[in-house]
Amino acid sequence: MKQLEDWDDFVAARYREGKSEEEFRNYKADANPTVTEFYRQNHAYQTFELVVEKKAQYCGLTRGKKSIWEMADYLNTLVDDSDPDTDLTQIEHLLQTSEAIRNDGHPRWFVLAGFLHDLGKVLCLYGEPQWAVVGDTFPVGCAYSEEIVFPEFFAANPDRSNRAYQSKCGVYEPNCGLDKVHLSFGHDEYIFQVTRAYVPEEAQYMLRYHSFYPAHKHGAYKHLMNEHDGRMMEWVQKFNAYDLYSKGRERPNIQAVLPYYQDLVSEFFPEKIDW
Ligand code: FE
Ligand code: FE
Repeated sequence: MKQLEDWDDFVAARYREGKSEEEFRNYKADANPTVTEFYRQNHAYQTFELVVEKKAQYCGLTRGKKSIWEMADYLNTLVDDSDPDTDLTQIEHLLQTSEAIRNDGHPRWFVLAGFLHDLGKVLCLYGEPQWAVVGDTFPVGCAYSEEIVFPEFFAANPDRSNRAYQSKCGVYEPNCGLDKVHLSFGHDEYIFQVTRAYVPEEAQYMLRYHSFYPAHKHGAYKHLMNEHDGRMMEWVQKFNAYDLYSKGRERPNIQAVLPYYQDLVSEFFPEKIDW
């Protein structure tokens, strides 16, 4: 399961604090061969058709009822085999993010979003390949922005030669709103669908678009957003700082913080929800 970590590390390296614009543009220097190969596959295989198919497969939430805690334990079986001393478990990453949010005095739903945000990575345990679970997300069915990393890899995507999908807005109306736009499939969309009935809208945006770097970091795709999206993206940006920069802080003491999170989760969720 090395690639999952590799992608997160690549994103963190790309947006390292204090990096100049020029250094940022040179993001390939931060990509190891695994990351490069990951994006080659992700950009070649994430077609409009694939996205619609994966959404039909997972977004109806037909895989049974489980509690958030059962899923968090399940996600934790995704372990990085490379270096158990320095790499955080999945739950530790979630708690590091949410604890950083909590330390800054943000509302409870914001802390909750931090704790939930990567639970969708259980898609890997359902047998999905990594290119369908992680990676920066981008709209399908319309032209690819140059703000997406490794845009040259889209040459291998069949959608590239479908003219209906390659105009600026493609199959979408201008400013139709992000809810109508299909993004490349991954852990963001899945956790959004699982939790949308229970968390406030700001948290829904954080969960659904936290990997949409072309938009929340680079301002791309404004032509598909409406005014409401524009306002909500500010919350995604607030959230992103915690996702990126909580790594490298001290390891969370899980036992010490667990009671707070048990309370928090039961404040928003019933015992079991559909996955
Ligand atoms: Fe994530
Ligand atoms: Fe994360």
